[in-house]
Amino acid sequence: MKYYGGIEAGGTKFVCAVSDENFEIVAETSIPTTTPEETLEHVFAFFDQYELVAMGVGSFGPIGIDPTKDTYGYVLATPKKGWAQYDFLGNLKEHYPGLPFAWTTDVNAAAYGEIKQGAAQGKNSCVYLTVGTGIGGGVVVNGEIFSGISHPEMGHIHVKRHPDDTFVGTCPYHNDCLEGLAAGPSLEGRTGIKGQDLPENHPIWDIQAYYIAQALMSYTLILAPEIIILGGGVMNQDHLLLKIRQQFVDQMNGYMETPEASEYIVRWGLPNKSGITGCLLLAADAAAKV
Ligand code: ADP
Ligand code: ZN
Repeated sequence: MKYYGGIEAGGTKFVCAVSDENFEIVAETSIPTTTPEETLEHVFAFFDQYELVAMGVGSFGPIGIDPTKDTYGYVLATPKKGWAQYDFLGNLKEHYPGLPFAWTTDVNAAAYGEIKQGAAQGKNSCVYLTVGTGIGGGVVVNGEIFSGISHPEMGHIHVKRHPDDTFVGTCPYHNDCLEGLAAGPSLEGRTGIKGQDLPENHPIWDIQAYYIAQALMSYTLILAPEIIILGGGVMNQDHLLLKIRQQFVDQMNGYMETPEASEYIVRWGLPNKSGITGCLLLAADAAAKV
C-alpha cells in the first residue's frame, strides 16, 4: 500500500493528513500555526510515523512558485510572524530527502480537490474562492492548476463601493480591496459582532453579497470558468449564497450568458476538506511524475 502525505498550511492551523492510494485518509492532525520551527517540529513528528511516497503542500501565501527563482518554495511577504521569506519547502525537503513534493497555494489545492472530487467534478475549469479570515482564490484550467508569473491573488482586486458603506477596510496593503471590505474581519469591523453571530436580517449581508458578486462577475468576465465554488467560514451563511447569486445576475444584467446561477455559483462539495483533499491528490501526481 502506498501512502500520500498532505499539508494544508493555513495561517491559523496546519491540517496534516496521510491517505492510502485511494485517497482514504488513514491519519489526520491539526497543528496550530506558531513559529515555523515549532510548527514544523510537530509536522515532522506526525509524518515521521509513516512511510510516504510523496507529499502535497498547499500553503498560505503569497508563496514563491517559480522553480527558476531562488524564492521557489518560500513564503513571501506575509505579516505572519517568522514566516516572511521562510524557506518552507526547502525545510520540508531537507527533512525528507528524495521525497517527491507538490507545492502550491492552499486555495489552488482546494480548487484542485473540488474539480477532482468535489462540486466541480467532470468540469475542465473552475474558480475556487474562500471567504474566511482572508479572501483568496485558485483556478484550474484544463484540469491543471493555473499559474503565470506567480499564483493569482484574487482577494485583492478592487470593487465598487456599496453606496451605504463607509467602512475603511481591513487590508493592511490596500484598505478597501475585496478582502478588506468582505473578508470575515470586515463583518466584525463594521458591526462589532462576529459574522457567525450576526442575524440573517442584518443589512450588512446585502453589502457583503454586493462585493462578493462583483468579484465573481470579474472572475467570470476574465476567465469564464465552468463553475465557481465558494468556501470559507463566512459562506456558512446559506442566505448569503442566495443573495450573491441574485446580485450576480443583477450586476451581469444579461451581458454574458452563464449557467443558471444555482448551478454556476455553488458551495464547496468537500466541506472543510477541499484543501487537504487537493494536497493528497497533488501528492499522487508528484509520485506519478517520478
Ligand atoms: P480561515 O480563513 O482562518 O481558514 P474560516 O474559513 O473559518 O478560517 O474563516 C474564519 C472567518 O469566518 C472569521 O472571520 C469568522 O468570524 C468568520 N465566520 C466563521 N463562521 C461564520 C459564519 N457562520 N458566518 C459568518 N462568518 C463566519
Ligand atoms: Zn488588499
